[in-house]
Amino acid sequence: MKKLSRRHFVKNTALSATSLSILGMAGCKKTTEKINTDNQPTINKKAGHTVVIAGGGYGGATAAKYLKLLNPAINVILIDRNAEHVSCAMSNEVIFGLRDISEITMPLKKLAEKYGIEFKQAEVTGLDGENKILKTSAGDVAYDKLIVSPGISMDYDTALDFTTERQKEIPHAWIAGAQTLQLKDMVNNINAGDTIIFRTPLALYRCPPGPYERACLFGNEALKKGAKVIVLDPNPQIMSKKPLFEKAFNTLYKDVLTYYPNIEVTGIDYDKKIVKTNQGDFQGTLINFVPDQKAGELAFTLGLVEPGKKWASVDAKSFESTLIKDVYVIGDAIDTATVTEMPKSGTIANATAKVVAENLVRIFAGKEPKVPLVGNTCYSLVSDKEGIWIATLYEYDEAKNKIVTRNGANGIPKEASVENKINGHSWGNNILSDTFM
Ligand SMILES: Cc1cc2nc3c(=O)[nH]c(=O)nc-3n(C[C@H](O)[C@H](O)[C@H](O)COP(=O)(O)OP(=O)(O)OC[C@H]3O[C@@H](n4cnc5c(N)ncnc54)[C@H](O)[C@@H]3O)c2cc1C
Repeated sequence: MKKLSRRHFVKNTALSATSLSILGMAGCKKTTEKINTDNQPTINKKAGHTVVIAGGGYGGATAAKYLKLLNPAINVILIDRNAEHVSCAMSNEVIFGLRDISEITMPLKKLAEKYGIEFKQAEVTGLDGENKILKTSAGDVAYDKLIVSPGISMDYDTALDFTTERQKEIPHAWIAGAQTLQLKDMVNNINAGDTIIFRTPLALYRCPPGPYERACLFGNEALKKGAKVIVLDPNPQIMSKKPLFEKAFNTLYKDVLTYYPNIEVTGIDYDKKIVKTNQGDFQGTLINFVPDQKAGELAFTLGLVEPGKKWASVDAKSFESTLIKDVYVIGDAIDTATVTEMPKSGTIANATAKVVAENLVRIFAGKEPKVPLVGNTCYSLVSDKEGIWIATLYEYDEAKNKIVTRNGANGIPKEASVENKINGHSWGNNILSDTFM
């Protein structure tokens, strides 16, 4: 039995007697557990344990599926603002015509029906952590444990005057969906003599090799069409698979692509398409500017980010929020720099979701949680014909209280190959299937 005090009801206006709608009750025939208070409306909750998951991307969808696979008796409620999740992984392939967007568009209802997950399409808007109630545009949801996997949001540099209109003109396409197709159209319209200006984000950002894969695919397009590419990187160097991307820049694209590290963009003349930087001005015909990043807005809304920080604070061993009990944050939104050497990747979101799912099942069963041990495999394209990869194993280090790279357990191939491209395609299909099907 769980008690909600009058104070908590008064504090949360959304919880008035008339508007109270607990999503977990939908379709519930038998209720055995009651959240009761003196003279207060009774919130019924399904029998057994309820895990609510906010965000149905790589982290959230995997957590929902694996919770059900590990213990079908747990009530799992998955909430996302969209009915379908469009995968960011493989979205570069869509932009450059190597996959269709339908191949990376994952219907969440289908996943839910297959595994007995309750799916709600709703905007998550707030949290009453004390009473374990998540607020959404479709009503309030009670939980025993909450998993939040909201992804990233853009940290626009205010000096660059990126108004909403400007954001539409210059898509980042770093959150897949409409902008992926918009950039694809812009790529289709590249002509001979054009100059593509591609600004990569400053670390920490989603998918460390992603910008360099996109740079290569711009290079590939420029070669085909007689255009040029200027890559403006605020980082001091290529941030992932460096020798392999460097080789591609210096061989395949040596005549069409120029890479500038340590770039600071100081202004954009939107009408003339001039990007002003600390290393001079660059004029282009197509600008793809990927802003710096921070945790998904939802992490801030729910109070999971410490003041002055950009990412959600979690305990390195359990992924439980250090700010709100019984709330677990996974995926790109976590403060990776503090708790782990793992990258912000779909594979890591998928792998850590499994760690959290298994540990919640163990905790409900009165067992000790396990210590994280996760792998990351990531393929990238260096052209429309050849691919490369990186593979790393990460484990929890008690002394450092951090998830670190296991000694010697990481590597990249000697060179790009057609075989790597084929394997990468299969890897992509497998992770989509493991996460969303
Ligand atoms: C170009 C590119 C290429 C990439 N390639 C790879 C790759 O090859 N391999 C790899 O492993 N990773 C890759 N990634 C990274 C990968 O896509 C991310 O790391 C992964 O999506 C992170 O998962 P997540 O669950 O944290 O966030 P997401 O997958 O983004 O999921 C977040 C979900 O939360 C929902 N949401 C957010 N706020 C709310 C709210 N308020 N209410 C309701 N719902 C909400 C969103 O709708 C979304 O569905 C790539 C990324 C990009 C941009």
